[in-house]
Amino acid sequence: MRQTLESAGLTVRQPRNGRSSRRPACGGRPAGPAVASAKAAPRYDRVVDEDLLDYYALLHRHFGPQDWWPARTRLEVMVGAVLVQNTSWRNVEYALQRLRAARRLSLPGLRATSAADLGRLIRSSGFWRPKARCLKALVALVDQQHGGRLDRMFRTPTAGLRAQLLALPGVGPETADNILLYAGGHATFVVDAYTRRVLDRHNLGPEISSAAAQPLPYETLRGWFEARLPRQAALYNEFHALLVAVGKQYCHKKTPCCRACPLRAKLP
Ligand code: SF4
Repeated sequence: MRQTLESAGLTVRQPRNGRSSRRPACGGRPAGPAVASAKAAPRYDRVVDEDLLDYYALLHRHFGPQDWWPARTRLEVMVGAVLVQNTSWRNVEYALQRLRAARRLSLPGLRATSAADLGRLIRSSGFWRPKARCLKALVALVDQQHGGRLDRMFRTPTAGLRAQLLALPGVGPETADNILLYAGGHATFVVDAYTRRVLDRHNLGPEISSAAAQPLPYETLRGWFEARLPRQAALYNEFHALLVAVGKQYCHKKTPCCRACPLRAKLP
């Protein structure tokens, strides 16, 4: 299902002792105030950004391969991508277990289950009514547009399939890109809150007007990454997973643990 980094032609240094078990020594130097880079409109240079790849290398050396997405099948990735909205992965795992135990974690299983029954099975993931409707819409897309076959669906060109996914109820850009990247192997970069936090604290990202107080649009950030990285699904896959890892372990919302973080040398 996944392309390996090596098959994508990307060489990375492995962690010296396998996957790191280091814990953050919190209380270290906090990052400076979140600073959104100011100035002009977003730039899209369309050149590989060695500095950004250096972030990737530092994270990969520290955390090791993340082997995302944690799922058994492509359909499980799709279901997980819907369920993880606005909740923790632990709650999603419980919902997936219930679906699996009820033999509903398959296309035929989801097809044969009403939205109401699905909702009962995924209740632990929160917002279960809209999420159940979203899952039914996802299955309808596979059936009506792609002959009921995931392999056919994921052979659709990225932009067209992305538009189909975004047209579904309850599917925003992050969910669509998770499905495209982690279930379909499409080279589309996923942006989430952890990504935004690391960019802000390191003065990275598109240049914006100093008057702009709004968070940068999702598509602006996705385009910024994609313009600076080799267009490789394996790289996007690992990079996003590594940004989540550093966000969870070190780059906490209130008090970042910069002293122990693998990106400390990159602080402005
Ligand atoms: S990514 Fe690491 S070094 Fe950078 S602000 Fe967050 S915790 Fe600090």
